[in-house]
Amino acid sequence: MSDFEGLRALVTGGASGIGRATAELLAERGAQVAVLDLDPSSVEKPLCGHRADVTDDASVREAVAAAVTGLGGLDVLVNNAGIGAQGTVEDNPDDEWHRVYDVNVLGMVRTTRACLPHLRASAHAAIVNTCSIAATAGLPQRALYSATKGAVYSLTLAMAADHVREGIRVNCVNPGTVDTPWVGRLLDAAPDPAAERAALQARQPTGRLVSAAEVAGAIAYLASPLSGATTGTALAVDGGMQGL
Ligand code: NAD
Repeated sequence: MSDFEGLRALVTGGASGIGRATAELLAERGAQVAVLDLDPSSVEKPLCGHRADVTDDASVREAVAAAVTGLGGLDVLVNNAGIGAQGTVEDNPDDEWHRVYDVNVLGMVRTTRACLPHLRASAHAAIVNTCSIAATAGLPQRALYSATKGAVYSLTLAMAADHVREGIRVNCVNPGTVDTPWVGRLLDAAPDPAAERAALQARQPTGRLVSAAEVAGAIAYLASPLSGATTGTALAVDGGMQGL
């Protein structure tokens, strides 16, 4: 029997990139998986897509209720939906800070709140948050994004402490630069996308970007009973970027 057999999982932002790779990996390994996304139209069976905006509490509650009904319960929540932001503190006005915080931080809070009653009923409850090396690395031109991921990191530790005695583990992954549609869009916006990609790869200690499947592998580990004694941790999936 696989470590994922019988697990029921919900992945936010699961229609693209890291979330999609995670949903597919969990399903391949035997879990039943539902996806919550702004646009779940590309989500195919056996995954079950639910439309919701993590900035809209009512839509999150509705989608979580539908997903849990479909799955027959919930063991795993992957809080992954997120958006990027570039620039220093001088570049983004207050409303942009509120907008990105609303998705990256409050989106996780809303989804977690809606899922906790169901996770309490699980014998193998786990929450995995997609954080980033931006939480701790001090990246240039990423003030707002880094601040949201710093909040995700702190939230992970606090949630782990709050829910450990209820049998709910909470961990996060800290990816480096991952080859997802999001990064593809950033590269496409450069004057010479191929040269920009080559420069980005050259900055990686491994000489290549992290794949979405590699982040999915770390999330799957933290979501499964294989990591049953692990809570309140951040697992770096950054090809050695951390500490450089
Ligand atoms: P992506 O853009 O490929 O996928 C993000 C998904 O989230 C999309 O399907 C999108 O529709 C969904 N989404 C966005 N806003 C939403 C909302 N308000 N409600 C519901 N769904 C919403 O991005 P990705 O690169 O796979 O990033 C996923 C997560 O990984 C994000 O939290 C991001 O911060 C984090 N991350 C990415 C990288 C990277 O290099 N790609 C690095 C570190 C961390």
